[in-house]
Order: sequence, then structure tokens, then C-alpha cells
Amino acid sequence: MKPLEAVIKTTCPYCGVGCGVLAEQNTAGEWSVRGDGEHPANFGRLCSKGASLAETVSLPNRLMTPLQRIADGGLQRISWDHAIDRVADGFRAAIDEFGPDSVGIYVSGQILTEDYYVANKLMKGFIGSANIDTNSRLCMSSAVAAYNRAFGSDTVPVSYEDLENADLVVLSGSNTAYAHPVIYQRLVAAKERRPNMKFVVIDPRKTATCDIADLHLPIAPGADALLFNGLLVALADAGKIDHDFIAASVDGFEASLAAARADAGDPDILAQRCGLSRAQLEQFYGWFIAHERTVSLWSQGMNQSASGTDKGNALINCHLATGRIGKPAMGPFSITGQPNAMGGREVGGLANMLAAHQGFTPEAIDRVSRFWGSENVAQKPGLKAVDLFAAAGTGQIKALWIIATNPVFSLPDSHAVRAALAHCPLVVLSECVANTDTAQYADILLPATTWGERDGTVTNSERRISRQRPLYPPVGESRHDWQALCAVAERLGFGTAFDFADAAAIFREYAALTAFENNGSRDLDLGAFTQLSEAQYNELPPTRWPQPACHAPIEPFSDGRFFTQNRRARMLPITAQGAPSALTPLYPLRLNTGRLRDQWHGMSRTGAVPKLLNHVGEPTLTIHPMDAARYKLRGHQIARVGNTRGQLMTRVVLDEHQRQGSVFVPMHWSDAFSRDGLVNALIAPIIDPISGQPEFKTQSVWVEHY
Ligand code: SF4
Repeated sequence: MKPLEAVIKTTCPYCGVGCGVLAEQNTAGEWSVRGDGEHPANFGRLCSKGASLAETVSLPNRLMTPLQRIADGGLQRISWDHAIDRVADGFRAAIDEFGPDSVGIYVSGQILTEDYYVANKLMKGFIGSANIDTNSRLCMSSAVAAYNRAFGSDTVPVSYEDLENADLVVLSGSNTAYAHPVIYQRLVAAKERRPNMKFVVIDPRKTATCDIADLHLPIAPGADALLFNGLLVALADAGKIDHDFIAASVDGFEASLAAARADAGDPDILAQRCGLSRAQLEQFYGWFIAHERTVSLWSQGMNQSASGTDKGNALINCHLATGRIGKPAMGPFSITGQPNAMGGREVGGLANMLAAHQGFTPEAIDRVSRFWGSENVAQKPGLKAVDLFAAAGTGQIKALWIIATNPVFSLPDSHAVRAALAHCPLVVLSECVANTDTAQYADILLPATTWGERDGTVTNSERRISRQRPLYPPVGESRHDWQALCAVAERLGFGTAFDFADAAAIFREYAALTAFENNGSRDLDLGAFTQLSEAQYNELPPTRWPQPACHAPIEPFSDGRFFTQNRRARMLPITAQGAPSALTPLYPLRLNTGRLRDQWHGMSRTGAVPKLLNHVGEPTLTIHPMDAARYKLRGHQIARVGNTRGQLMTRVVLDEHQRQGSVFVPMHWSDAFSRDGLVNALIAPIIDPISGQPEFKTQSVWVEHY
């Protein structure tokens, strides 16, 4: 194995922090990695996962060649030519007989922006359906919807420096220490530099992130919107409303405050409903009132909710009401889980977006049609993730192409997803490993490149575009996802529109589409991106988007103008919904799921590193000792967790920091690593009606010893 360069600058493929990585190969051919000291996301830091990347350069169970399912259920090796023919023929047959909405593509926040762009162009631009969605739907789509409702655009208004420079950081539904470790390290370092900096952690569990907390609010599961409605009332009562800012830039203040007052009610009852003491509530509200330079970071604990969009807007309301947005060290900040959720958002990877952050307006459809030279552009939003798989189950979807994700493992109601895939006439899976839960249902498997081989860009949580560069050639017969998509597009007769020579050509086209008739881009240096040579693309430094023409720092909304029709932000009247599934004597506990520090998603990469299993090596059920006694469980024994949907077996961990009445099970163990059951088999497919994001945090369950 020969390195392409002595030291290769690339980007970590795990979380949305987007850390820069320096990869080096020694003369014995061994790889090592270290943090890139020049990368503005991490300045040399890496977490345990990123620091172990060198140990994953030869993944076990790599899918090396295209395969097809044969009559006896086994898999047979086929050529790429034959595989592409089968995919194109299957899609063409379904489209011809049942129309373009009979096919779908399901992609991932793991793929690169260039892959995302081509998949979106193929589906929405040329097949003519918007039935393309992404597993980012499970991660941050509620935040996207909340931003869109408030700002008229999916714009993240905060950067990592803002977090470090804030006087108060409010972390809601985010175990940052585990899920975004380098952000946590940066916050710890900031606190050491400025000891007066304050941290509030809002989470039903006392997680590792609480090590930095000056105040931990162990909120009742699902009560976030109620807490922020109470905060809006407290800000108003303390005279902290920025009436000048509202007069100039915000609609909906009066109605939102009235709704918040009606919802929050009496402070004692509010505290009780939030599961907090009155003193805890007053402390939090008092600090928010006192600290103008406040950043409110939120993550899956708020987003993965049947009312996640409302929760996001209840929080954003507090920033808009106080004018704490568009200025240094303040603003609402949804941090993304995956490495390229943001890149997907930018090119239109969500079924309800067209391309380049445009919705399905007549003007945008016309603009994109002219840019792509297609008369077949989708006219309306497509099916979101949960609905897309439900449609496969009912027979509406006849051909489904899944790229770089494992929906049997990651979607709620795993049994229904299995049944849907078994029912779907053609399931195509592009994957780098052969043994995922979803692979069992694939009719065609296409070997895909993965980190170390991929070549393109990702965009991190603060809108910074970074290059993922190849360290070595693709393994086996694996190809980049965009190459497989272009080959199928060519067989479907869309060839010239997909005649990309390389990833740089795709990036240039994506930048050109962003700039095309884009009045909002006048002050931005889009021309530089649309003209990038291959060499410039290869050398592209980490670049925060939007890039101003003058290269001066840019704060979104610093001019008090937003992207709504009237350029004013919107506050939304919110009434808190609480948790959707009822507790009963039969199902008395709330199941919370989430990440561990040293694992990533279905463990296909991190599970291959023995030392990463030292932290937690098997599925666990974390339960408060009082609850454990109530249900006759002892520490270390095996327990069963279940409800009407299914059950799984896990090791019991007693933890007095676990909130009573709820239990926690990590999300990571797929069937490839444990035969004890998927935790998502217990999760009902209840989604936020606005964003389509499923609820993963409050499912009612029982527990018993095994
Ligand atoms: Fe990778 Fe995220 Fe860890 Fe950074 S914090 S090294 S991006 S997993």
C-alpha cells in the first residue's frame, strides 16, 4: 500500500464536529493519525474514535464485489456492468409501469456532498420524484424545520468560537462529552481560560457532560418546550425583551409570549411539570436573564421527539425576543450528529427540499429545471424516511436504493422495516461492509468506498466545508457512490447530465447551482467555488460557508435581516406537547436511547477496534437503583426490556444518576454485533408532524430480570 502523499490532510468520518486529521504512513506501510493542528474545528484535538482511525484502515467484512441475490436466498458475484444494468432495469420497469413516485433513494449523513448532490440530481432532477430522503432525518430534521420556520432558511447562526466566547452555554438534550467530544474539550478549555463562564446542562440523565455543569437540570422527559416557554415569560417579566430588535426584525412576539404565558402558568406548577424544583428553575432563568452572551446548543435529546420542531422554536423564541442572535457569542445552535448532515442539507438531501436550500416553490422548480436542463424536475416534496419505508411496506415503493446506511438498525419499529424490505420487489444496497442488518434484505449489493478511499467534501456543524481525501486506492471493486449513481443515470438515458469526470467537477456544479440567479449571494465569493480547478479543489482548505467576498468574518443575520419574504424573523406560539407514549402499570418506564463515547452508529468501523470496546463492551440497561429494586433487578445481571413491539436482553448497570422512572439503552448494537435484539425494535414510529423526525427518547417499556 503506497501513500499518495507523505502526510495527507483529511477529515474524521464520525461526528458533526468535523475534525481535521493528519494521516501518515511509515515505511512499513502502517498508518497512524493525529489531529490537524491547523484545522479550525479541532486545532489538533481528536477524541477516542478519531484517534483510532488508523486501526480501521482494513475493515473486517468488506464488501469487495457486486453481488446479487439468487433463488435459494444466497448471494452470487456479478460484474459491475451487470449490477448497474439490474439496478437501472429495475428502476426503469417500476417508473414505466407505476410512475416516478414508485421508486426511492435513501441516503446518509455519512456520504460526501458530491455523492449527495448526484443522488439528489438523479432522483429529483431526472427521475422526477422527490422520494429521496436521508438518515439525517433521524438526527436533526426538527432543527432544520425550526430554523426554517423562524428564519425562512435553514441557517445555523452560530460557530464554535461563539460557543467558546459565550458567558453562558446552555446544553439541551446533548451529551456533548460523548456525542461531540472535541466540542466538549474546547468548552472545558474555554472554562479554564475564563472561569466565570457558566454552563447549564438540561438532560433527564446526569451524563458525563454534567462534569462541566454549574447547573444540571434533570428535566422530566419531553418537558423542554415547557421549560423554554417559562423562560420566555421570565425574560419578559424581567424586562429583558429587546423591543427595538423586535420592532426592526421580528414578527410574532406578542402571540408567542401569550402562548408561553398560557402554557407555563403558575411557577410552582411549571417547576413540577418540568420535574424540577422552583429553585432550579429560578437559577436557570436568572442566569439566562443576566447573561447576554448566551449560546444555546441543542441536539438529539430535543430533536428526536414527536414535537422536536416546536421544542427548537420555543428555544429560538428566547433568542429572538432578546435580540441574542447575529452577534458574537450568542445564538441558538443545533449541533448535527453526523459528519455531513450539513452537506446533505445544502444540496437538498431531504425529501422536502429541492436543491441548494431551495423549497418546492414554482420559482425554484423553474430555476432548477433550467439549470439542470431537465423538464422532469419533481414538483412536490417526497416521502420522508419513516413514510418512505412504510410505503415500501404497503407496496407503493417498488424499487429502493439504500446508500451507506442501515435502516433496519437505525429506523424505529425495526420489525416493520424488515417486513417492508422483504416486501419491496427491488432493494439495492450500496455499502462498504457486507454484514449489516439491511444487507440481508438486499437484492443487489454494490461495494462502496469508505473513509480512507473517499474523495470529496463534508460540511460540519458550523458550516465549515472540509476535504475528505483518499489515503489509498479503493479496496476490491468498490466505487464511489457518485460513480455508481452516474452509471445508473447513464443507463436510464440521462447520460450527459451525469458526465462528471471527478468529484471536483461535481463540486463546481453544486457551487454553480447555489450561485445561479441567487440574489442573496451578491456579497459572497461564490465565483471562487464555481471556478475551482482540480488542483485548487484538492488543496481546498477548511472553509466556513458562507464565504464573504471580502474574507472578513461573517455572522449570519448580523444585519437583522432574515430570509423570510419580508426579511423578518418569526417567533412561533408554542404549546408544549410532552411525551407521546403513555406510561401504564404494564409499561411503567421511559426508554431513552443514545450514543456511547467510543462507538459510532452500528459499529461497523468502531466495533473493529478492540480498545474502543473497553469503555462499554456489550449492550447495557442503565437504571436507577430504586427502580432496579422495584423491578427486582441486580447490577450486572441480564435483564429483558420490552413492550408490545418486541424485547431485547441487556446487562444491568445501576446508576444513581439515571433519572428515576426512565432507563437508558445505547443505540449501537446491531445484529452484526449482538443477537440480543435491536433497541429500535421497541420504538414506535411516532414522528414530528412538521419535520418527520421520529421520537426516540420516551418510549414506554417494562423491564424484568432474565
Ligand atoms: Fe471525529 Fe467527532 Fe471525535 Fe472529532 S469529535 S475526532 S469529528 S468523532
